Amino acid sequence: MIEPMQFHTALDLVVSALERLCEESPSAAMASRETLDSFMDQRAPAGPGKRDRLGAIQARVSVCLKCPHLASSRRQTVFGIGHPNADLMFIGEAPGADEDAKGEPFVGRAGQWLTKRIAAMGFGRDDVYIANILKCRPDTPGATSGNRPPTPQEMQTCLPYLAEQIDIIQPRVLVALGATAVEGLLGFRGTMRELRGTWHSYQETPLLITYHPSYLLRNQAPSEKRKVWEDMLQVLERLNAPISEKQRNYFRS
Ligand code: URA
Repeated sequence: MIEPMQFHTALDLVVSALERLCEESPSAAMASRETLDSFMDQRAPAGPGKRDRLGAIQARVSVCLKCPHLASSRRQTVFGIGHPNADLMFIGEAPGADEDAKGEPFVGRAGQWLTKRIAAMGFGRDDVYIANILKCRPDTPGATSGNRPPTPQEMQTCLPYLAEQIDIIQPRVLVALGATAVEGLLGFRGTMRELRGTWHSYQETPLLITYHPSYLLRNQAPSEKRKVWEDMLQVLERLNAPISEKQRNYFRS
């Protein structure tokens, strides 16, 4: 019997071969863009029980009281979203106000930015998996708005949930968004200037460090945006995903 991950990898290979055929000889191609897209929609079925196993952790997370101050300030926990069999997983730091309200990671301004980059890579939010180190919005006692980064203690307390998610999903590539995600996952601190664009591994899964979308919203310099795009191209290469000329030249004039 074919394992779901093998099926997924085989399907990706077939689709990229067909795409190459389409690009190289459009007149001879036997598969239209629509056919390929519908092909891609028939993702590998989630591995046996993956969805259920994630659902079981989500149920535990939703009633978690390990950090009483966060349990009493949150509206709801923010577990994660995406395909249980995703090859690519993005990891941010913690929910903000929008995520706390919706119960979904990266749905505010930073999330819209991330969703656009995912689309530019040729994926939808449903193709990848998105989660945070912390499942609760960090509280800001005495303040009516604003965010704060999670503390090392909060991250350490919450990390086992993310570790379980990664263990079930088994992505081929992880992307850590920003220094806090790096600290939570890999346990070291560094400046993003040093860390960005570098490959590490988390439990043997390749992990690329890139800027957090909030940084890009604050710093609109094309040079910074270009660096993130170069990181995303590295990710596509690591996934053996097809990269079009348009994607390669995204930032070249
Ligand atoms: N920033 C994060 O790190 N995670 C979110 O879910 C939203 C913003």
